[in-house]
Amino acid sequence: MSHKTIIAPSVLSADFSRLGEEVEAVCQAGADWIHLDVMDGHFVPNITFGPPVIKAIRNRTDKMFDCHLMIAPADPFLAAFVDAGCGIITVHAEATTHLDRSLQAIRDLGCKAGVSLNPSTPETVVEYVLERLDLILLMTVNPGFGGQAFIPSVVEKVRRVKSMIGSRPIHIEIDGGVTPETAPLPRPVRMCWLPAPRCSKAATRRPTRKTLRPSARRPMAP
Ligand code: ZN
Repeated sequence: MSHKTIIAPSVLSADFSRLGEEVEAVCQAGADWIHLDVMDGHFVPNITFGPPVIKAIRNRTDKMFDCHLMIAPADPFLAAFVDAGCGIITVHAEATTHLDRSLQAIRDLGCKAGVSLNPSTPETVVEYVLERLDLILLMTVNPGFGGQAFIPSVVEKVRRVKSMIGSRPIHIEIDGGVTPETAPLPRPVRMCWLPAPRCSKAATRRPTRKTLRPSARRPMAP
């Protein structure tokens, strides 16, 4: 698989009254995927949106919809998110009792499957489900809100996960507090996520690919 860094801006802090236009703007600026942060006010202390909103913007781009479910339970809603047009569905290891079953359910729906880990969750929880995974999302903030500071200890976690997955075709995604300054830190990582606040600002400024990918061409920190 390619080790190219994938930029997946979140719509979390976009202007929801013109969400379709904002999605088009970040796609035109060079976004590779669209990251969809779904929160339920139960697993995380915030509520965002669900399948109807995702379905409403699905026709604005043909980019991959990368759906990050911060909901518990997730299993009863998986089919609705697939029907809405999500190509990758990521569930939190902390939000499901039967992680292996949830991942298999996502794949049975014809979707790529991911698992997300909160900053305090050890990477070993995915050790026995690697064969069912297309993506591991490492939270670099505590999930629930945009605009938080990047937690630096996750850099070492990225290295451990990369070692664990070896040559398996699994993306590593980092999520939260990613800025031009913090984005280079977890290298080598196959994918990173531009945070919602930056996405929102970029969208309103009609961004260029350079503004969406500010660090991809810079020398990386060791
Ligand atoms: Zn996310």
